[in-house]
Amino acid sequence: MTSIPGCADAPLPDFSELSRDQASGRACLVCGEPLRGGGIYRGTVTGVYGSMMISASVRSCPPPEAGQ
Ligand SMILES: [Zn+2]
Repeated sequence: MTSIPGCADAPLPDFSELSRDQASGRACLVCGEPLRGGGIYRGTVTGVYGSMMISASVRSCPPPEAGQ
């Protein structure tokens, strides 16, 4: 698994900066790598999509020491 230092510590981006996969928690919110279930939960990003307020549970790559 790719583990890039900094992803786990990076601030949450704006919702508008998230890709579809990032917003659904399938990809790291920082580097965009597919997580395949290995990411860590980082919190919720809220934003406006069209005329709706939506929130996304985002995940990032785990810290280097958490991966094997
Ligand atoms: Zn990452």
